[in-house]
This record gives sequence, C-alpha cells and structure tokens, in this order.
Amino acid sequence: MFVGGLRNRKTIPPRREPTRQLRHRLTISFMTTTVPLKIRLYGDPCLRKKSVPVVYVGPTEQSLLFGLLAAMRENKGVGLAAPQVGVNRQIFVADIGDGPMAFINPKIIRKSGGDVIEEGCLSIPGVTVMVRRPEKIVVRYIDENNQPHEKIYEEMMARVIQHEMDHLDGKLIVDYAGIKEKIKLRARLRELKRKQKGME
Ligand SMILES: [Zn+2]
Repeated sequence: MFVGGLRNRKTIPPRREPTRQLRHRLTISFMTTTVPLKIRLYGDPCLRKKSVPVVYVGPTEQSLLFGLLAAMRENKGVGLAAPQVGVNRQIFVADIGDGPMAFINPKIIRKSGGDVIEEGCLSIPGVTVMVRRPEKIVVRYIDENNQPHEKIYEEMMARVIQHEMDHLDGKLIVDYAGIKEKIKLRARLRELKRKQKGME
C-alpha cells in the first residue's frame, strides 16, 4: 500500500530501521536474495489470483519476506503483499514507521467502525481511490518465526492490513471505485496494463 493522499490527513511517523530482531532473523536470507523483487503492475494475472496459505515459514519464505521489505522500502510503501511480486501465497509485510512486521495466513476475526480514506497501491502507481474500511480489527496470523498471534489493530495499521489482505484475495483498490471514478481511471489503467505487458 502507498499512502498517497493519506499523508495530508494524518501524520506518519518517520520510518525507522528494521527492529533488530527481524533484521537478525532475516540476515541469513539476505545472502540468498540476489535479485531485487520487481513489483507487478495492474494487469498482471498474479494480482487477481487467490493466494494459498503457508504451511511452514522456512528459509524460502524468510527470503521472500526480506525481498518484500526491501521492495516496499525502495518504493516508499507502507505495505507489500506477496502477489505483488508474483507469489500467490498468504504473506505480506507492513511498516507504518514503527518497525517492519510480517503477516502470514492472516484472518480478520472481528471488525468495528468505518472510515473512508484515500488509498494508493504500489501496483497501481498514479491512482488513488477513496476506500471505506472498518477502523478497528482483530487479526489472527503467524509471524516470520511461525509464532501465532491474535492482535487488535486500529487506524493506519488496520487500514494497511486490510489493504494487503485484499491483495491475498485478488482484490484491488480500483474495485472500490464508483462508476464515475472508474471511467476517470480507465485511461491510466489501460496505460499500466500496457506497461505491465512490456515487463513480461
Ligand atoms: Zn496494494
């Protein structure tokens, strides 16, 4: 997810270095990550597929997490999901400024409230859409170390998690656009599709 217009409405704390723990765990994988992951653009079939759950987080998955974090930072995003780099597995990373987090096999078990905020997406550069989402969620997931968690998230983090979870279901922000908005976006989306085709 890219914050886009959100920046004007809410103050996002400065990005910090990865927490020592995660950095340490991912150091081993760093050696195996040779090629930076390329972010797939609108039109790539991977963005529309449903992702499969992860059975066990091993070196391959940790390497993917590191690659996702690197690509997210490179593109100044606050979240990035595996389908966005062509991997249809239930994995995403997020960092809203208080350290990187890995979410694997996430499930929302409770939600409340509702808010409409402008969202951007690293796979759909140049496009923002007003998206209504619950403000508070309870999420069950496992982390990069196979540890299960059940946590409450609110506001910005709740939004990022829901945006990235949409990616795992093959859903994109443009799906939330109204008919008028969709017509306005048509040219830009066509342009992105052409760009994506050129990358294949
Ligand atoms: Zn996105």
